[in-house]
Amino acid sequence: MLQQIIKKINCPNCNEKNEVILWEKINVDMNPDLKEDLFTEKINNLTCTKCGSISRINIPLYYNDNKRKFFIYLVPDFPIDKKEEEKLMDSLRSKTLNILDEGYNNKKRVVFDYYNLLEKILIFDEQLDDRVVEGCKILARTQLKLMEGKAAFEKIENDELVFNFFEKEERKASKSFSIPKAMYYEIEEIINTKDAVNSDEFRKIDVQYAVKMLMN
Ligand SMILES: [Zn+2]
Repeated sequence: MLQQIIKKINCPNCNEKNEVILWEKINVDMNPDLKEDLFTEKINNLTCTKCGSISRINIPLYYNDNKRKFFIYLVPDFPIDKKEEEKLMDSLRSKTLNILDEGYNNKKRVVFDYYNLLEKILIFDEQLDDRVVEGCKILARTQLKLMEGKAAFEKIENDELVFNFFEKEERKASKSFSIPKAMYYEIEEIINTKDAVNSDEFRKIDVQYAVKMLMN
């Protein structure tokens, strides 16, 4: 299966036509280096041969981890329309039915932002449940009064889940906070009671999901 494409793209800075190699699929078992490139933001960039400026080319990209069995599809700048979203999820499900076995159930995700993709990978790499992680996040943020901005899971350290917090559109974290694993397990119980489906569907698991599960 071809994983990369070559495209001619005009530099957003100086309009020079450049040829650029773009990745549409990352199968991490086959190309572990691509994962590194994803995290260092060296993937799907255009470095202009004329002016030297670097710009990210936002194209849909999927990330498949065959060993841990999770699949994340990034659709940058997708219109937030419920109907369109449902159509997308359905088509993804049918397109991947032959590729993804039952082991992937509850670990098929769609994200609309590059950094969300990175966060999901970190979560699933730690074999955590992203539904529960979103739950932890919203409860902690409510308590810490960190509602404006974004929080993202970073790592597990000393039996705690560590999160970074970003003000509004900032890319550099201004704060971090952590949650004990014990709290994670408590929320896991709640989520598993309320959302017990063994789902083979693609889902969007985000802050709205957590609000629906825990705040109502
Ligand atoms: Zn240029």
